[in-house]
Amino acid sequence: MFPSLMQQHPLMISSIIEFAERWYPDVEVVSRTTEGPIHRYTYKEMGHRCRQMADALGKLGVKKGDRVGTLAWNGYRHLELYYSVSGSGAVLHTVNPRLFAEQMAYVIDHAGDKVIFTDLTFIPLLENLADKLGQVEHIVVMTDREHMPDTTLQNTHCYEDLINAESGDYQWPEFDENSASSICYTSGTTGNPKGVVYSHRSTLIHAMGSSVPNGLGLSGADSILLVVPQFHVNAWGVSYAGPMNGCKLVLPGPAMDGKSIHELLDQEQCTLSLAVPTIWMMLTGYLKESGAMLPHMKRVVIGGSAVPEAMIRSFEQEYDVQVIHAWGMTETSPLGTLNFLLPHLKALDYEAQMETKLKQGKTVFGVDLRIVDDENNTLPHDGKAFGKLQARGHWVTSGYYGEEPSVGPDGWFDTGDVATIDKDGYMMITDRTKDVIKSGGEWISSIELENIAVGHPAVVEAAVIAVPHPKWDERPLLIVVTQADKKPKKEELLDFIAERVARWQLPNDVQFVDELPHGATGKLNKLKLREDFKDYVFPAT
Ligand code: AMP
Repeated sequence: MFPSLMQQHPLMISSIIEFAERWYPDVEVVSRTTEGPIHRYTYKEMGHRCRQMADALGKLGVKKGDRVGTLAWNGYRHLELYYSVSGSGAVLHTVNPRLFAEQMAYVIDHAGDKVIFTDLTFIPLLENLADKLGQVEHIVVMTDREHMPDTTLQNTHCYEDLINAESGDYQWPEFDENSASSICYTSGTTGNPKGVVYSHRSTLIHAMGSSVPNGLGLSGADSILLVVPQFHVNAWGVSYAGPMNGCKLVLPGPAMDGKSIHELLDQEQCTLSLAVPTIWMMLTGYLKESGAMLPHMKRVVIGGSAVPEAMIRSFEQEYDVQVIHAWGMTETSPLGTLNFLLPHLKALDYEAQMETKLKQGKTVFGVDLRIVDDENNTLPHDGKAFGKLQARGHWVTSGYYGEEPSVGPDGWFDTGDVATIDKDGYMMITDRTKDVIKSGGEWISSIELENIAVGHPAVVEAAVIAVPHPKWDERPLLIVVTQADKKPKKEELLDFIAERVARWQLPNDVQFVDELPHGATGKLNKLKLREDFKDYVFPAT
């Protein structure tokens, strides 16, 4: 090999905050705090505090490779830990506080967390788990002295006291870029959650790869409201990509209702925000009710589950905000695909664009996708053939913490999703492998039926599950939550769907419920739903 003359520096997470501190010193990070008031400071101040906290971690006995857990909302102290923990060589484990108590104890134990940083909100939760936190040596409460709670927890410290004891002279270390930087557990609707371990290298490349114009298109002109939780895949990587691009970051704390979200979008002149459809449902509900508008917002990134057509129309046509539909998963850091229109699709009229807009989008450089059948044969990109979606790339996992690798030497990771890819490369999720309805040898997409059902004006949320059928093996059952005052008749709903799908795909029945079960990351919990409806039998026809 002929050697290059280029410098080689390991890709370190600390370099992101060093960059933001040096080149965007006056850009603000604004947080709604757990204590109540809005807190604001700059990347300059943040950089200094990150170094103070890195020093403090050393004093607590945290060494390179040790795991440090967080139980926290989106806020500036949580953001500081992203850099002080990983930057010092330890591993940040962002615990999802919506997990069941036993699952939470399981992940803290499984990751081997030595220290837990917690927001005030989660003190009672930790007190209840205290006897299950054997390996945890210290608990740091993310507040100041004035707000320190009375608690039965042992070895507790005050975050601001730890910071104040340090000078900030700390020097960020350089080490192998393939070292672990953070761990995030999947939400685990089946069995125990599984740990995905990111590296400094994968995290940095993901942040660069997702910033590009074909991705999130981030720039120093953006003010980003980060609604997607920092405990869910590093807030879709924007905890890193934001400071890397000199973006203003706005962190909403625990207040996720439409009014509070709108208040921040408006006051902080946010140009971009990211969240799952459930959050946007609450925001658009509030906008309709109050008559408020979104004058500063330019783009909204929606992912985590399929974006309903009505939501795209509402944002784009009523509020003039571009919807970017995105797909990804904990195992892919998370960015897999993003939806932006190629010129020949943009040239179509709005109605004709919708078919593509509803798809999950095109992959960005750095991650590759393919669809395969049950024998692992690659399927064509014709928008019709659907098969198991597999991914590989710089920020795709090779397996789960403590388990055998889940990919072979060719590096393809099975996502558990079922998808089509069209001739322009737009991927569309048609199901989870375990949710698809296998009817008489044909597959019916539960997601497609759900999307159609929520297009009915009276339907608030819909789920479709497979129910055993004596003749067809399985047939779809539609379960809906409707607006209280507008409950349609079953036949009306089925007629609405029949106009939009092939006859054989039509659900055999509809059940009306008050609410649908959701998992720890807000997704429909179909496992629970199947459990709830296990004794259900279709009416005789
Ligand atoms: P998680 O690891 O909790 O982020 O969940 C990842 C899973 O969420 C994916 O494998 C998909 O099944 C689902 N998902 C994510 N984004 C979308 C989307 N835009 N449309 C449909 N499903 C999605």
